[in-house]
Amino acid sequence: MFMMQIISQVYQITIRYANMFLLVEEHLTLIDTGLHGSTPGVVHFIHSLGRSPEEIGLIILTHNHMDHFGGLAELRKLTKARVAAPRADFAADGGILPHPAGNYFGKLLSPPALSPLRRRFVLQAKDVDTLLDGGEVFPALGGLQVVPTPGHTSGSISLYTPQQKLLIVADALNKRHDVLRLPLKTAASGLN
Ligand SMILES: [Zn+2]
Repeated sequence: MFMMQIISQVYQITIRYANMFLLVEEHLTLIDTGLHGSTPGVVHFIHSLGRSPEEIGLIILTHNHMDHFGGLAELRKLTKARVAAPRADFAADGGILPHPAGNYFGKLLSPPALSPLRRRFVLQAKDVDTLLDGGEVFPALGGLQVVPTPGHTSGSISLYTPQQKLLIVADALNKRHDVLRLPLKTAASGLN
């Protein structure tokens, strides 16, 4: 687990290889939730700031990959945070993802007894409170803009704050061998 303050009020939390960003204001905003099992580390870090996970008011998922939504089910038990994620990463009917990996995992894990396991691999639109189309502005950091940056997945978003000139790109850019590159193209609900 690795933590770094990016700028005032903005922290990066890395657990295993998955990055999350915590915006610390009157309310807390969490961008991405890491892999399944990451939540105790996130909670520990929030406590180290003298804050509490119940203070998370908003969780924004940058795209529908399980190393970004994996901690969501655990966080839902601890917070009443609203959850926002890009609409284009979900099936239009709110069902299983329109991508090959999503369909595969969805069908494989369709028996009701497997639903807890299924939630680890397939995030569905019903797991999200607000579906984002791009252009939305959240109040965090004086105006946190949703910028569509498709490519890594069809719905991938970045988040931009004009006041701080901070752009959080998540997997819209990729560092390989210490070189910043364009993203790996993947189906939503894969692992990356
Ligand atoms: Zn990804």
